[in-house]
Amino acid sequence: MRYLVISDIHSNLPALKAVLAKARRIGYDKIICLGDFVGYYTSPNEVVELIKKDLTIAVIGNHDYGLLHPQSITLHFNELAREALFYNIKVISKETLEFLKSLSFTAETDGFLFVHGSPSEPEEFEYIYSSVQAGRELRLTSKKVTFFGHTHIPVIYEYDEEKEKVITVEKYVRFKEGKRYLINPGSVGQPRDGNPEASFGILDMEEGVYRHYRVEYDIFETVAEVIRAGLNPLLAERLYDGF
Ligand code: ZN
Repeated sequence: MRYLVISDIHSNLPALKAVLAKARRIGYDKIICLGDFVGYYTSPNEVVELIKKDLTIAVIGNHDYGLLHPQSITLHFNELAREALFYNIKVISKETLEFLKSLSFTAETDGFLFVHGSPSEPEEFEYIYSSVQAGRELRLTSKKVTFFGHTHIPVIYEYDEEKEKVITVEKYVRFKEGKRYLINPGSVGQPRDGNPEASFGILDMEEGVYRHYRVEYDIFETVAEVIRAGLNPLLAERLYDGF
């Protein structure tokens, strides 16, 4: 089974469409999403609708959680994120709401674990930004491969069980004996690694292989929607820089 692994779509429909088109050309059977379907941009219902049919594994992100618990929004989000999340609440459909309510903090299949923030505290939405943090997480788990999102930065951490050391691997990995992995496919809707192209991954579970991909999309379509919705243009402009 080949999975399209995505995260942090953030209601950015043009970015998601481009990812699906490229992933279809590469080939996949089902979709895994690591949370943050909503927030920041303008199309929460459309993005969920587009992937729902093929989605087999999904977890909740902090923006999804915020949408379901509006009383927590002022506490946990900056002004721009807040404004966008309230817009998402305004336009959300009953079906999308039901879908978000069905999500849990972790998911698991065939020894693979999926979370939005960190595997040690999935309900806290911690950010894993460094090899040191990744090492701490990987020492605590017995799972061969854990996928996470939240940072919007694609990365593959490889942990050597004997040496207890972490290295980062570029783009592609074949899972090896004696190693454990922590993988972030990056963000579909708002990449933050300086590359504005939408980010995703393809996982072949039987082959034990994972690869990162990027795809260009028409950012102006997303920008135009932000302006039409009356949201702060800064939300859209950051997309051109990939931050
Ligand atoms: Zn996010």
